[in-house]
Amino acid sequence: MDLIAQRLAAVRAGIAQAARRCGRNPEEITLVAATKTQTDDTIRQAIAAGITVCGENRVQEFTAHLAAGAYDGAQVHFIGQLQTNKVKFVVGRVELIHSVGSEKLLLAIQRQAEKLGVVQQILLEVNLAGEQSKAGLAPQQALPMARLAAQLANVRLRGLMCIPPPAAAPGKNLPYFTNLARLAVDIRKEIGDNGADTVYLSMGMSDDYQDAVCAGATHVRLGTALFGARPFPPIQEGSTDQ
Ligand SMILES: *Cc1c(COP(=O)(O)O)cnc(C)c1O
Repeated sequence: MDLIAQRLAAVRAGIAQAARRCGRNPEEITLVAATKTQTDDTIRQAIAAGITVCGENRVQEFTAHLAAGAYDGAQVHFIGQLQTNKVKFVVGRVELIHSVGSEKLLLAIQRQAEKLGVVQQILLEVNLAGEQSKAGLAPQQALPMARLAAQLANVRLRGLMCIPPPAAAPGKNLPYFTNLARLAVDIRKEIGDNGADTVYLSMGMSDDYQDAVCAGATHVRLGTALFGARPFPPIQEGSTDQ
């Protein structure tokens, strides 16, 4: 077994353990491999090992991997900060955009999806800790934005996503995850029929995914735990390298 396959087995065991501990079915949880900075070959290796969803952060890397066929056999999700002028490279080419954190972006996605005649699945990103450096909606903006999204014909709102600060200690991010889950329940109630679809919770990274699973994550996004430490300095979420 290669290293990625070994790490994948460990991560799957970690997800299953957390799920069982909290009375959940591990099969409800989708593992999204956060592939930023990885090569085409590494991505192919991860898919060969059993990864079914790749999560990309940067439009440039996404476009290059797509052109190389590196994702063949897997779905792609966009999980990074997306500028409105890059929407055309992403909409209709990924299954799910996790990181919709402004009205401007939401409307740009709608416009592009309409132009292509597709329905783009999205999550709203919520900035639960109010971090200035990070994108995302303030928690009180989430419901009005969900109402707006529910009215757009070419957007299908599937749920919420968050990126809390790195956990200071094990368990420290659990309250963020619990809050995101509650917010999703409120949104489902408020937007009625259109909300029956709004069931995804994308939360949890390498250091805190077990807490996220316990709090109800349907998607965990893992990079380091699968690929090891990234070869380049960590990407600041707010950076605009594109
Ligand atoms: C890089 C990244 C991850 C994965 O982070 P790790 O700590 O390496 O698991 C998850 N989500 C987003 C949005 C990321 O940019």
